[in-house]
Amino acid sequence: MKQISAPEIIQEMRRRVRLYMISVALIIIVGFGGTVAGLGLLKKTMGDSFTAGPGAILFIGGILLTVGCAWIAVYKLLRCPKCDRWVVWQMSTNYSLFAGMSSRTCPGCGSELFEEKSRRRFVRILIIIMLLGFAAGFIFQWLARR
Ligand SMILES: [Zn+2]
Repeated sequence: MKQISAPEIIQEMRRRVRLYMISVALIIIVGFGGTVAGLGLLKKTMGDSFTAGPGAILFIGGILLTVGCAWIAVYKLLRCPKCDRWVVWQMSTNYSLFAGMSSRTCPGCGSELFEEKSRRRFVRILIIIMLLGFAAGFIFQWLARR
């Protein structure tokens, strides 16, 4: 176990969660947007010979790749800074609307991971990320259609 002070744990956890949020947001925007744009491009290049088959393969491949990349970010980043235990459950409850009911400590070493005041903020961040994803999808679709 690493020697790390309590305020440092909270600070490091916040940094990891921020990094996680940013990477997942980017992965979703690039992945979904890229898939939609790729579909548009495929349709354009194939012209009349375009069928649902290649489109479906590209779509499923794009979604799987996106989810896979997001999963790597979850796997790598959502760990306790002190004992390296996976804290994805603590993170998802703390950053949801049920934050008041969830534990703020690591199940492995009992370190406090989340500050009381830092919790509610993340609901707002999540909503912003979702809106950004939607916006990116629409923009890509519009670009692909031209
Ligand atoms: Zn821990």
